[in-house]
Amino acid sequence: MSKAYQQSEAVKRRLEQVQGHFIAGHWLRENQQATSDVYNPSTGAVISQAICGTPAEVDQAVAAARSSFDDERWSGLTPAARAKVLWRIADLMEAEQAELAELEMLDAGKFYAAAEQGEVAFAAECFRYFAGWCTKIDGATKQLSSGPTNEFHVYTRREPIGVAALIVPWNGPLVQAAWKIAPALAAGCSCVLKPAQETPLSTLKLAEIMQQAGLPDGVLNVVLGDGPEIGGHLAAHDGVDKVSFTGSTAVGKKIIGAAKGNLKKVSLELGGKSPMVVFPDADLQDAADGAISAIFSNAGQVCVAGSRLYVHKSIYSELLPIIQEKAQAIKVGSALDPAMDMGPMISLRQLDSVLEKIHRAEAQGARLLCGGKLVQQGENGGGYFIEPTIFVDVNAGMDIATEEVFGPVLTVFAFDDSDDIVALANDSEYGLAASVWTKDIALAHKTAAKIKAGLLWINCHGIPDMAVPFGGYKQSGWGRENGYEALLQYTEQKSVIVRL
Ligand code: NAD
Repeated sequence: MSKAYQQSEAVKRRLEQVQGHFIAGHWLRENQQATSDVYNPSTGAVISQAICGTPAEVDQAVAAARSSFDDERWSGLTPAARAKVLWRIADLMEAEQAELAELEMLDAGKFYAAAEQGEVAFAAECFRYFAGWCTKIDGATKQLSSGPTNEFHVYTRREPIGVAALIVPWNGPLVQAAWKIAPALAAGCSCVLKPAQETPLSTLKLAEIMQQAGLPDGVLNVVLGDGPEIGGHLAAHDGVDKVSFTGSTAVGKKIIGAAKGNLKKVSLELGGKSPMVVFPDADLQDAADGAISAIFSNAGQVCVAGSRLYVHKSIYSELLPIIQEKAQAIKVGSALDPAMDMGPMISLRQLDSVLEKIHRAEAQGARLLCGGKLVQQGENGGGYFIEPTIFVDVNAGMDIATEEVFGPVLTVFAFDDSDDIVALANDSEYGLAASVWTKDIALAHKTAAKIKAGLLWINCHGIPDMAVPFGGYKQSGWGRENGYEALLQYTEQKSVIVRL
């Protein structure tokens, strides 16, 4: 299977060196701490070593970001000059897309074609999108409500917020990094980014590209290390003005606690348990394809994964077998093998966590329609794979109905006209995304308006776009990524009242 894959010389050289921090434009590959293993989740093999950061190195990175912000080497450039650098980053990412995609495949378990045409292309486009916003960050003129209008000139300004700490997860390392770095830089901020310990490779390559594109040293710094110690120190740091975090809801709550020391601004993109609602008049083939891709893309390790499928009773017995057949036809295996459809869990820890949730669901009485088992790979059993899994006969009290699995596990429910489908869809502590499947336009829009989620799709699921705000209601987060809204989160607003 993996015979088809030939490692490029560039990636070979990159993996041979220790993955280090990028601070003030320099690579720091040695410290007193041990290094940690970087794994290929498709094989379980150790492919490189990464430095384990120390709090002192976080301090160094924050100081580098702070001095680059205070001397205005980036924020003081004209907006057009900043836009040119962001645009150049996108061009260089495309020039280097083969290496970036290879790293994403080896490190994050993405299929090469999906990484190249999806992740890398999308991340590059994110820099272009925010390049466009650099020259459009406006204030407004205002009118005093209780002062003589002609004697005062009043206006607002948008200023960069300062040093932004950016903490990202492993399920889309390059895209998640781009979603934060691009708006932060467009606003004029300096940044310290911490990738997930599982997936440092593409982010470090991106840092290299950004330096080549002309980003001044110190404006982007990358620190490597574990979550609680290194991420925690960064989130709590008094030299940081804003923290933007993507990850689990449990850690998101810790970030809020860590940020309270200096009341830094916080935005959070957290977990989800997103419902898909299929009404009787829906196109069943479309709905089946949508459900399959909503839950099994990236092996379910997607924050907006459609993990709760509500199907109207009148079409349940027709739709369910179509979905089951499609799920069972999915070829599970190494992301190095383009003949496979679904790749690995990111780590042994994630594999164990998903299997434990599957076993608990069975123990609580949910019926396994298909899947549920570990997929053994080859004689040595390398790689972390789970079968596409579907549960039925689930009731609302079971953990599988409410808990985020972050793996390839779909839970299917039937509903009828006597059920309040909106209440069922909203029966979750999360509110990240949802989709509604019907040809009835009025029903679609009315249902979309009532579901409490930050992203609502009608007759599709999981389509992101740079221009469309992305984020959660309830415990799925605070704030929005993408669109102008994302940019505003990296600014402070100042009001100026001038007595003429
Ligand atoms: P995680 O919360 O364990 O880790 C995310 C990042 O936070 C990592 O870089 C980690 O090292 C760091 N971290 C861990 N503990 C920390 C602490 N105490 N202080 C500071 N940083 C800390 O999440 P994960 O397992 O890497 O990712 C999966 C989760 O992310 C899922 O819940 C998923 O829904 C969520 N997610 C959400 C979105 C979104 O946009 N809403 C996108 C992707 C993933």
